[in-house]
Amino acid sequence: MREYAHFIANHWHRPASRQTVDRSNPANDALVARYAQGGQADMDIAVAAARKAFDEGPWPRMPAQERADILYRIADLITANAERLIDIEIEEVGKARRFVKGDVGAASAFFRHAAGMAAQSHGEAYSNLPSQKTGLVLRQPVGVVGVIVPWNFPIEIFAKKVPFALASGCTVVVKPSEMTSGSALEVARLAASAGLPPGVLNIVTGRGSEAGEALTTHPGVDMISFTGSTTVGQHIIRRSADTVKRVTVELGGKSANIVCADADLDSALEGTLQAIFAFQGQCCVAGSRLLVADGIAEVFLKRLIARAEALTIGDPQLATTDLGAMISAAHTQKVLGYIERAKRDGQRLIAGGDRITPGAGLSDNFVSPTIFADIQPDHALFAEEIFGPVLSVTRFRTSEEAITLANQTQYGLANTIWTTNLATAMTASRQLKSGLVWVNTTLDGAPQLPFGGVKASGFGRELGNAGYDDFTDVKTVILSTAPYLSSFSAPT
Ligand code: NAP
Ligand code: MG
Repeated sequence: MREYAHFIANHWHRPASRQTVDRSNPANDALVARYAQGGQADMDIAVAAARKAFDEGPWPRMPAQERADILYRIADLITANAERLIDIEIEEVGKARRFVKGDVGAASAFFRHAAGMAAQSHGEAYSNLPSQKTGLVLRQPVGVVGVIVPWNFPIEIFAKKVPFALASGCTVVVKPSEMTSGSALEVARLAASAGLPPGVLNIVTGRGSEAGEALTTHPGVDMISFTGSTTVGQHIIRRSADTVKRVTVELGGKSANIVCADADLDSALEGTLQAIFAFQGQCCVAGSRLLVADGIAEVFLKRLIARAEALTIGDPQLATTDLGAMISAAHTQKVLGYIERAKRDGQRLIAGGDRITPGAGLSDNFVSPTIFADIQPDHALFAEEIFGPVLSVTRFRTSEEAITLANQTQYGLANTIWTTNLATAMTASRQLKSGLVWVNTTLDGAPQLPFGGVKASGFGRELGNAGYDDFTDVKTVILSTAPYLSSFSAPT
């Protein structure tokens, strides 16, 4: 079992309360980690450290290239320690090895990309103002950033935020999910050994209701960058109002995956499978609503059921496992509740729908790939974020109807369309109400491309120039060398 304290100013700090939070491996219920249970007192120390590192420096005033050099070293250390980080994520998250390898690789890539941005960042200059004045638009770091991370992509979401904040010159306090805090603490430790000055990156673990609340309301914090559920996001927006913080919120989703009759059906099939069953559907951008053209629906669903039933559910440690464990018994129960209610009210179950124990020594926190057909837009399976391997299928006649159905949700994170018709692809790209649209690919991304939602999926962006800019303030400077004339003395 791994035991951790908070990581503040490059040192381990025991929690003021002396209380801890245990984490068990959801795949086999074995105790794997014990974390410090943080509260207001711990957060005060961490925020003071981040405040000092920001206000007194050197971090925000360092030449950007020096900040970049440290971020590159952190990226290298993540790569060098990938095996350990992968093991921690598998144990705490229950996610199958084949997916976790990608998450850790992405984390290193995000640090590397942010390092490059540190040295590239620049403002604007205007020499065309009246009286030969000069206008400067400076980009400056926001200050102390509170980062709140969910459990589904712990290291990847940490790395979508932290290196970009650091690259801009901000200092950071992270509150990871109480269930999956290991990778954040390990990366912070690696960052210290890469030469990151004390106080620049601090980790306070514990529950959202205590540690998270203390971070959100702290007067020493300038910004909260949150990823998680829409309900908690709304709460954070409200709670941050008293101290007028900048807030960015990456929230829930209910993405449509549209398969047109003219699609390359082999690709659409692989994409549909990936979109909903990767990481057991515990994914904000999961393609949880399949919208399929009437003419191909029967054949497509037949093939989809066969592929879904052939997926291997089992020990997340094994390289051959497709679906690992759900995050917790409570979440498994919540997902099964949706399945049971849908069965009871007569919805057509065409695959899965079971809770299983896939092998000796494994828990029963596993759900088989589940598909319900002929779901109407007013049904919970169509409307609500289930966050499990549960696909709702709805048929459409025209691509206009498909776009209307796709937009018939409170969420607006990502949508996918499979089509070989360029006009259909372009119309969908313009009309789908989401921060991301994938055409003939899905669950796709790159460090240079912004990620984030609209509507109830939140606001603000991660990654890309937009993600970097969210951690900066724009300051306008007007420089004059001519005598100043007030409006009172100026000729009328
Ligand atoms: P969650 O319950 O909203 O929690 C997210 C984070 O907020 C956790 O670290 C949690 O801490 C913390 N938190 C809870 N209550 C808080 C409070 N009152 N004040 C401050 N922080 C608080 O979400 P989750 O269950 O971990 O993750 C699943 C959700 O995240 C889904 O809705 C999913 O769609 C969303 N998500 C969105 C994106 C995106 O980019 N749009 C990406 C991934 C996930 P504890 O866990 O310690 O309580
Ligand atoms: Mg939660």
